[in-house]
Amino acid sequence: MKAPPFAYLRATSLDDAFRLWSAAGPEAKLLAGGQSLIATLAFRLSEPSALIDISRVPELGGITEAGGAIRIGALVTHAQLGASELVRRHVPLLAEAVPLIAHAAVRNRGTFGGSLAFADPAAELPACCVALDATVIARTRSGERRIPAAQFFTGLYTTALAADELIAAVELPQARPGERSTIIELARRSGDYAMAGIAVRAKIAGSTLVEPNVVFFGVGDRPISAGRAASALAGKPAAPATVAEAQAALGGDLDPPADQHGTPEMKLHLARVLLARALDRLIGHAGARAA
Ligand SMILES: Cc1cc2nc3c(=O)[nH]c(=O)nc-3n(C[C@H](O)[C@H](O)[C@H](O)COP(=O)(O)OP(=O)(O)OC[C@H]3O[C@@H](n4cnc5c(N)ncnc54)[C@H](O)[C@@H]3O)c2cc1C
Repeated sequence: MKAPPFAYLRATSLDDAFRLWSAAGPEAKLLAGGQSLIATLAFRLSEPSALIDISRVPELGGITEAGGAIRIGALVTHAQLGASELVRRHVPLLAEAVPLIAHAAVRNRGTFGGSLAFADPAAELPACCVALDATVIARTRSGERRIPAAQFFTGLYTTALAADELIAAVELPQARPGERSTIIELARRSGDYAMAGIAVRAKIAGSTLVEPNVVFFGVGDRPISAGRAASALAGKPAAPATVAEAQAALGGDLDPPADQHGTPEMKLHLARVLLARALDRLIGHAGARAA
């Protein structure tokens, strides 16, 4: 299918973007990397009157270090994220996530802000942002609002952004000493969206997990924090009995809908398998570093 007709307007600055957006009206949409939006137009899932191209707005780019946090501009592409030394050093979970996203061509154009705004429940970066306690910086013409990632994703492909707000950047706390993180997913083919995935972050003392954050993707309508499983793990060595207790607790954390990949029972099973694998990897990382 072909996209319906639309006007195309390219913004050269943030002020220009807001001016064009307000003149184009509520039916207009922002265009960043176009890797999700253009597909929805081609399938006629969305019929915007105009696309405001923000991909060359300089204020929305860049990766910087500021006050114990890493600030990542909305237009930073997945490829730039994966190549950044600051990201590797201070938010390694994001660097680990990048190769799991699609293929090189998509990673070269798709943006961090676009991925969060699109809010696909099976996407990697939204889950990482929740696991990392990130803050989304939302901008309107007149000001800025800070939204914790855990409150940003409100449902299937929906977010807490107001109709006149865009994502300007995301701030992520730098990894603390002794902190480890990992992301694992199960997909039918390399580069596909996940059937189920997990992002975990914790401080590791010996083989004990301190303050674990366990977040699943692809098993609900948004990234899901598994609070009961995290409580079952917190402050205990990751011995088989503890892992089994946490896996059982996932029954209270997750209520996966059936989808094209399988039944709710199958998805819960995959989540339990992923939790055990992620813990193995986390403790293995800690052991490898201590050795
Ligand atoms: C073949 C294929 C496979 C893919 N596989 C994966 C995958 O495995 N995992 C994954 O996570 N993603 C995957 N993607 C999606 C990819 O990561 C997209 O790049 C991403 O979801 C959207 O980013 P974008 O910059 O392309 O946004 P666009 O497509 O330009 O925009 C998407 C939506 O976000 C809005 N938007 C964009 N930027 C902003 C902003 N700064 N503020 C507010 N709203 C904004 C747009 O208005 C639009 O509604 C895949 C895409 C393709 C084509």
